[in-house]
Amino acid sequence: MNDLFARHRQVLPDWLALYYDEPLEITHGEGRHVWDAEGNRYLDFFGGILTTMTAHALPEVTKAVSEQAGRIIHSSTLYLNRPMVELAERIAQLSGIPDARVFFTTSGTEANDTALLLATTYRRTNTILAMRNSYHGRSFSSVGITGNKGWSPTSLSPLQTLYVHGGVRTRGPFAELNDREFIAACVDDLRDLLGHTRPPAALIAEPIQGVGGFTSPPDGLYAAFRKVLQEQGILWIADEVQTGWGRTGEHFWGWQAHGQSGPPDILTFAKGIGNGMSIGGVVARSEIMNCLDSNSISTFGGTQITMAAGLANLSYHLEHDLQGNARRVGGLLIERLRAVAAQLPGVREVRGRGLMIGVELVKPGTDEADPKSASAVLEAAREGGLLIGKGGGHNTSALRIAPPLSLTVAEAEEGAAILEQALRSAY
Ligand code: PMP
Repeated sequence: MNDLFARHRQVLPDWLALYYDEPLEITHGEGRHVWDAEGNRYLDFFGGILTTMTAHALPEVTKAVSEQAGRIIHSSTLYLNRPMVELAERIAQLSGIPDARVFFTTSGTEANDTALLLATTYRRTNTILAMRNSYHGRSFSSVGITGNKGWSPTSLSPLQTLYVHGGVRTRGPFAELNDREFIAACVDDLRDLLGHTRPPAALIAEPIQGVGGFTSPPDGLYAAFRKVLQEQGILWIADEVQTGWGRTGEHFWGWQAHGQSGPPDILTFAKGIGNGMSIGGVVARSEIMNCLDSNSISTFGGTQITMAAGLANLSYHLEHDLQGNARRVGGLLIERLRAVAAQLPGVREVRGRGLMIGVELVKPGTDEADPKSASAVLEAAREGGLLIGKGGGHNTSALRIAPPLSLTVAEAEEGAAILEQALRSAY
């Protein structure tokens, strides 16, 4: 155990998730690469979904942040804030939500908290529908509704939550169903739940489950859910914290893969939009956003410095068609990994869209999750110079790949080759 790791263990909570037997200290980055304290260089296939949507140390964002830091950082809500208004205008327009209002927070957790506050207040009930295997954050209400109980340390939630099927398809009773049958079974499950309760406030769902292992429900699942929800006026909250900003390639938002359902009533976003600066937020129709009838402020949500980063990052993203890049480079990467998977019995599935790719591992010849191999692959990939993530249900046996959206074809090929080696060493 190195000195910093020992000090970390001494002073920080035991429940902080740390990767690797010997955790990494990342000291700097550039583009799609990062370096550790010992000077080792890694290709970063995970940072894209954590903080760095576009690229590490993107000069355009660095410049905007340092100029703003030298000018002013003040209350974001008590006085007029030009970059906040500008970013809100752009996000409102991109959201697809009519008559949209935007509220900025500092994290995805706080964005979801705000969405839950809006939905429960608007609908006058504290019952929420959430998906099994979901993750929505770490505050009292967002852990309370989180379906992945490996990440939900308390059951003393202020909200009453009912969990809906539809997140996980790889095992369990729904695994053998085709898309149409799966959607029908999930809709039946939803109707069954609704038959036993007063109408809930909202269904909150990730279009693709992130922490849950990048599990994709079939296109059309949420459209089918939406029909049922609308019969009772139940709102749909799309948690786009991982799926937003073109990461899925075909679409700018994850909900758009469920096109017939139309835009969500409430959309939440966070993570990479600030390319490292902490921006989260909620978009909702004004009727819903304005249902709160007392004052509110946010000291750090929407500060000039984070908004300057968001504006610079979003401009870069749109000017360089990073959504198109996610589609093209992600498509190649998925194809390449599927070819590898075909030769390895321990790789059950390569799934995903764009640059949000999950690789599900099983004990060869079985349907059993294989968290040990997932950890071994993570370690081996690191040895080879590649950082990836993992996720999934209680047994985290899915590898998660989510590089910065500017990933090049050459980097995708390099990363795939390292991952292939790591998978072969584990199986
Ligand atoms: N929603 C989803 C889908 C997430 O993946 C996360 C973070 N992993 C959050 C919410 C919470 O975001 P934050 O960590 O910024 O609070």
